[in-house]
Amino acid sequence: MKFYNTLTRKVEDFVPEDPSRVRMYVCGPTVYDYAHIGNFRPMVVFDSLNRLLRHKYGQDAVVYARNITDIDDKIINQAIATETTIDVITDRTIAAFHDDLDALNVAAPDHEPRCTEYVEPMVAMIEELIEGGFAYAAEGHALFDIHSYEKYGKLSKRSLDDMRAGARVEVAPYKRDPGDFVLWKPSTDEQPGWPSPWGRGRPGWHIECSAMSKSCLGETFDIHGGGLDLIFPHHENEIAQSCCANGTEVMARHWMHNGYLTVEGEKMSKSLGNFFTVKQLRDEGWGGEVIRFSLLSAHYRQPLDFSRDKMREMKAQLDRWYGFLKESGDPEAGEVDERVIAALSDDLNTPQAIAILHELTDRPADLKASATMLGLLQQDSESWFKGEVSDDENAEIEALIEKRKQAKADKDFATADQVRDQLTSMGIVLEDKSGGVTEWKRG
Ligand SMILES: [Zn+2]
Repeated sequence: MKFYNTLTRKVEDFVPEDPSRVRMYVCGPTVYDYAHIGNFRPMVVFDSLNRLLRHKYGQDAVVYARNITDIDDKIINQAIATETTIDVITDRTIAAFHDDLDALNVAAPDHEPRCTEYVEPMVAMIEELIEGGFAYAAEGHALFDIHSYEKYGKLSKRSLDDMRAGARVEVAPYKRDPGDFVLWKPSTDEQPGWPSPWGRGRPGWHIECSAMSKSCLGETFDIHGGGLDLIFPHHENEIAQSCCANGTEVMARHWMHNGYLTVEGEKMSKSLGNFFTVKQLRDEGWGGEVIRFSLLSAHYRQPLDFSRDKMREMKAQLDRWYGFLKESGDPEAGEVDERVIAALSDDLNTPQAIAILHELTDRPADLKASATMLGLLQQDSESWFKGEVSDDENAEIEALIEKRKQAKADKDFATADQVRDQLTSMGIVLEDKSGGVTEWKRG
């Protein structure tokens, strides 16, 4: 297998440190509000990588950690703005996030650490950094001294001047250099806080991932993933903290980043009205599998343009594949086609893997097995065509179909047509089969 490594800007052979314990860490969401579609691209991309690694090294040979950031000023501000507590915000947002991930068929990671549960190791790591001369305390803060680490900038390939000019660098009187970044900051009485040697406060965002990845995976691990926007400052700072605190040369050996997502050709923004959450799309009736397929349709390092047209195209393709599986009697999964593995092993080339799926329509069992690598075609065809249906709704639809059947038998065609129209208005399409059997699906 080979993957592009952001550290070297090259596609490199992937050789895990220990093939019986392949370790991957991916930065998860900050849980203050519904995640937008762009947040789900890394979730789906690294879920596909997780599937590939397990296929190659064994189901139990991969340790995947993906965190939840549940301490953040955005969460505090959201609680104030909506006049509720932080716990209410984070519990609700995490539940919604998990519900969306289930709909997108994203498997749960082995570890899903929450920052609030790892404050102690964060404090311990900051103490190590201060003792080692890599960080300093000032006015209730602890700050990383970027001059203490000569490799600072190696991931983002930025000079100190570039980094200081970065939009997210905050000038403050207690900083020795404007580029020094916060490891710990003080909390007011109203803000959540934990005791520390520097006073009551809370951790900075970057130290969270350094401490949690160490707790879950160890001082060094194989793959660290996330979106392109995290390279600087977040991942650059993670490397500085982890390598200095642990005395290691590397944190992760392979750094992988997915590209940006645009919506209908534009950068997603609330003011342009093209800001979608997965929840909104699901409420519009788009299935999680259609959203997932759309997110995998471009190579992960390329920009991805997300649109309703794209989802329509992906849904039509899934209809064809599921229709084909249905005709074949919904076979059990067969063999994964080696060409699909080869495509994914070549820097996770999902468009190439999808192209090969198109060639497997004469081998339904193998199509189903191969699509598993992308997390697709895992439903039975009936649930695909019917979508989510409650028992009550199903009973109502079946009763209407029976009513229409009876009307036709009575030659009461006006009633039969009226019932069909009623079903159409419910988004239900009927298919009359031989032997008087009528099947239904969503239109
Ligand atoms: Zn992170």
